[in-house]
Amino acid sequence: MAFPGRLRGRRASWIVGWALLVALGVAGSLFGAEAVAHHRQQKARQSFAQSSADVASLLRLAIQHEQDLVVSAGGFVVADPGASDGAFIRWADAVHALPRYPELSAFGESVVVPAASLAAFASRAVARPEVGLSGGDVFRLTPPGNRALYCFSKLEQLRSGRASLPLGYDYCAGRQGVSVLASRDSGQAASVAMRVGRVSSLVVETPLYRGGVVPATIAARRVAFLGWIDLTLAPGVLLRSALANHPGLVISLRYARGGSSLAFSSGRPPAAADRVVTNIGGEWTVEAAGSLAGAGVLGDPDALALLAAGLALSVSLGLLMLILGSGRRRAVALVSQKTEELRHQALHDPLTGLPNRALVLDRIDRLLARNRRNGTVAGAMYVDLDDFKNLNDTLGHAVGDQLLIAIAARLHIALRNADTIGRLGGDEFVILIEGDDLEATPTLVAERLLEVMRQPFEFAPTTAPLVITVSIGIVVGDRATPDELLRDAGVALTLAKSGGKNRAEVFGEEMNTAARQRYELEFDLRRALEDHQFRLVYQPIYQLDDLTVVGVEALLRWDHPTIGVVQPNEFIPLLESNGQILQVGRWVLCEGCRQMALWHAQGSDVTLSVNVSGRQLESDAVVDDVRAALELSGLPPSMLIVEVTETVLMRDTETASRRLVDLKSLGIHLAVDDFGTGYSSLAYLQRFPVDCLKIDRAFTRAMGESRASRALIRTLVQLGRNLELTILVEGVETTEQVDRLRGEHVDQVQGFLMAGPLDPDVLASSILQLEPEGAAGSRRPGSRPPSPQPVAASSRANPALGRGLGRRGGQSSDPSAPTDDQGSARKRDG
Ligand code: C2E
Ligand code: CA
Ligand code: CA
Repeated sequence: MAFPGRLRGRRASWIVGWALLVALGVAGSLFGAEAVAHHRQQKARQSFAQSSADVASLLRLAIQHEQDLVVSAGGFVVADPGASDGAFIRWADAVHALPRYPELSAFGESVVVPAASLAAFASRAVARPEVGLSGGDVFRLTPPGNRALYCFSKLEQLRSGRASLPLGYDYCAGRQGVSVLASRDSGQAASVAMRVGRVSSLVVETPLYRGGVVPATIAARRVAFLGWIDLTLAPGVLLRSALANHPGLVISLRYARGGSSLAFSSGRPPAAADRVVTNIGGEWTVEAAGSLAGAGVLGDPDALALLAAGLALSVSLGLLMLILGSGRRRAVALVSQKTEELRHQALHDPLTGLPNRALVLDRIDRLLARNRRNGTVAGAMYVDLDDFKNLNDTLGHAVGDQLLIAIAARLHIALRNADTIGRLGGDEFVILIEGDDLEATPTLVAERLLEVMRQPFEFAPTTAPLVITVSIGIVVGDRATPDELLRDAGVALTLAKSGGKNRAEVFGEEMNTAARQRYELEFDLRRALEDHQFRLVYQPIYQLDDLTVVGVEALLRWDHPTIGVVQPNEFIPLLESNGQILQVGRWVLCEGCRQMALWHAQGSDVTLSVNVSGRQLESDAVVDDVRAALELSGLPPSMLIVEVTETVLMRDTETASRRLVDLKSLGIHLAVDDFGTGYSSLAYLQRFPVDCLKIDRAFTRAMGESRASRALIRTLVQLGRNLELTILVEGVETTEQVDRLRGEHVDQVQGFLMAGPLDPDVLASSILQLEPEGAAGSRRPGSRPPSPQPVAASSRANPALGRGLGRRGGQSSDPSAPTDDQGSARKRDG
């Protein structure tokens, strides 16, 4: 019969398929379990290496700290070798010695006592009420015996009321005494273990000499010797605090020098432990031991679990396939698993696995809500690597990534689990902190982070350790939105960066005005040029003898979309610091030349002065920029004056003078701006091919105040005369100044008395007296009729000035002229 045969054949192929699936599943599970075990082993090894490095650097730090205390205690004793216990303890309290060094059980000074003075020393030692010793305490020489000399503690501060060593304990007795006394001769510190009863202490004895320096010869050292600064450490505390975040490790701290060696251990390492020995400076080493996860699948419970689960899954999947004959359910499971994966990817940074910006914002949102409900305070820290871009460029992105991963790991170690740590992108991390008493905590946490990050990163034994620093911005308190909290932390970070990096700053309300504005301006400037927010205003320059206009200086203004007009003193430093001044300066040259060429075409013959910043002068490009601006506009080079400030010339005289020669060869003129604020010496001025000195307005203002200031201006003018330069005086505000300057034979003047910086159309109509482009009919009502001789009249100043009656701002001859820039500048300045 054909039918049963077909049925049998189908069942057979089902079984074959089922068996194949199960076999594949089993093989896959075995393979997967093996991979898990391997991966875990590798991760365990990495984390062991990281942990031991961390522990070693913590111990290194602790021991370095100890040395700080030795130095400062030494300073105290050297300054006052006869100081009383009371004075010493007051000093130790004032420097917070015990709270700052938790591992310290006692510290002080010990001295050598010759046998002849033993009795006197003993009787003095027992009656020291400051250290809690009354006449009743017994001075028991330990170990007993007659020796030529003894070493006793003289000044001491104790953590607990009682000393760990008995009164009368002789440091110089026995074997340990040999190395203590040797340290007096060698000038090097000695470390000795002292055990009394069940308590073992580590005592570091650092010899101290008169004057605070170690004399050159042994004989001189013996003569100048004062005593030792002794620190008694509880090694248990030291080891415990280093191990706080690494419960799986066992560490031994070892000291070996000459014949003496000491070791303190936090416990007994497991039999098959991995070990790493790290030298932590001088004679100190740390051995860290920890057992790694058991090798192979059978030794790793997770891998074993995976194997079992894999087997079970294969069998059940096979069954499922048999039962349902379809993959629908599996598809559903797969979809939900994939969704979970995607969700994780969407909210986490792939490199470090930390929450990303979106998740961090969400966590801040919840944090703020929780705090409002509970009346607690939220805090956030913005952590940013210093000069990461540099490092990435020089060491490559692979190292950069490795570093970011290591930093994320350190943040985890330093901050425990309670705090959210996220990565906002690049080298920016954020940390959220909650707690009841937050006012002080974030700064403490930040200090700890700064310290932890300063420890070198060691990626491979073959490469040099990497040392980096971070800057931290802290914000504490409520904010309406997560963005606001982050932005304020960012403002504090900007401040920390500009304050020299490697530091933390807390956001304060005063930053609302200063730092925040700067931060926001800096941000807005990025778009200002392409959004056409810059414009030029022009301030006339006058010939002093007849007050005719001979030139104009182009001055930059920024029309900020929300703030309004921003003055150059506020934004030019920002443009200079981020390098944008190069593009903006190029635009100023082009726009100024274009405008002046147009005025020349309309009949004007005045010159154009343009300010060029120090950053522009740093590169040859400035010469090309000037050439291009002249060629594009058609302005004759002799009509352009480039102004460079005196301080810029002084910065790098060599380059500056070379660049000025190149500029000069284009046929333009050069002026030294703000003259008098730098060195102002004849010798250096001769090196630059300049044509004009613009004397800084500070001297103009001072002129009315004293004879000395008048003499100063005279000197500056004289200096320029000797070099046959044109002398221009800036900031002329009163008619008295004009009269005085006439007496000094100044050539040209510029200032609010005649005219402030003006919008181009105002300048053209009221100062240059040019017809507006197009037609005369477009003139505003009340403005002057066109002059019959435009060229001659164009250079005539306000005639009232010639009689000493001028008002501020030449443009005021046109009462209906649109508000000039000078008005708004003064409002802001005031
Ligand atoms: P500066 O080159 O010394 O320009 C003269 C400044 O003095 C101008 O300030 C002008 O408004 C002001 N001033 C003119 N007459 C008087 C007066 O009688 N009394 C007082 N108190 N001040 C007077 P402004 O426009 O705010 O420019 C400030 C500085 O910004 C300029 O000083 C210049 O160093 C810089 N700057 C302006 N525009 C540019 C530019 O396009 N490029 C570069 N690199 N710097 C520029
Ligand atoms: Ca200038
Ligand atoms: Ca100036």
